[in-house]
Amino acid sequence: MRIGIYPGSFDPLTNGHMDIIERAVEICDKLIISVATNIAKTALFSAQERVEIINNCCKHINNLEVTSFDGLLVDYCHEKNASMIIRGLRTNMDFEYEKSIATVNRKLAPNIETVFLMTKGEYYFISSHLVKEIASFSGDLTSLVPRFAQQKLQQKFPN
Ligand code: ADP
Repeated sequence: MRIGIYPGSFDPLTNGHMDIIERAVEICDKLIISVATNIAKTALFSAQERVEIINNCCKHINNLEVTSFDGLLVDYCHEKNASMIIRGLRTNMDFEYEKSIATVNRKLAPNIETVFLMTKGEYYFISSHLVKEIASFSGDLTSLVPRFAQQKLQQKFPN
């Protein structure tokens, strides 16, 4: 069974993440979305809230598990028997950052392959950071995040 892990902050889940998830499930037998908890101090949503948002927005996807983790990603992959790490790529900056992470992970765990999925053109500008900024000014989030994430953002930034 080919198990992939899609790790990230997901603070919160965006339509860009959703696109990567929907494409990643097609190349894995099972996809585990793993919310990284080690950035909890700077995150807007708690790990539990981020997991709740993903679970709610991915109800329609079958071969999926949503978890949170801290510590080394490759250790977590071994614990979950995952052979693939899924990451999304938007810009050159993403590429430079991801290249070094993937190289380190390969050194630590040569049996785990990092698989990059290129963002769709319409999502390349979407980031959780941007979405939070727009939410803080009560801007329209309809085309940026799934509906449930939008509701949760509006609760964080009531006007
Ligand atoms: P991290 O803090 O680990 O980068 P993010 O939640 O920001 O966590 O992103 C998780 C993964 O999703 C990363 O691989 C990132 O490049 C990818 N990603 C984020 N937004 C998009 C998007 N709009 N299109 C494609 N991939 C994306």
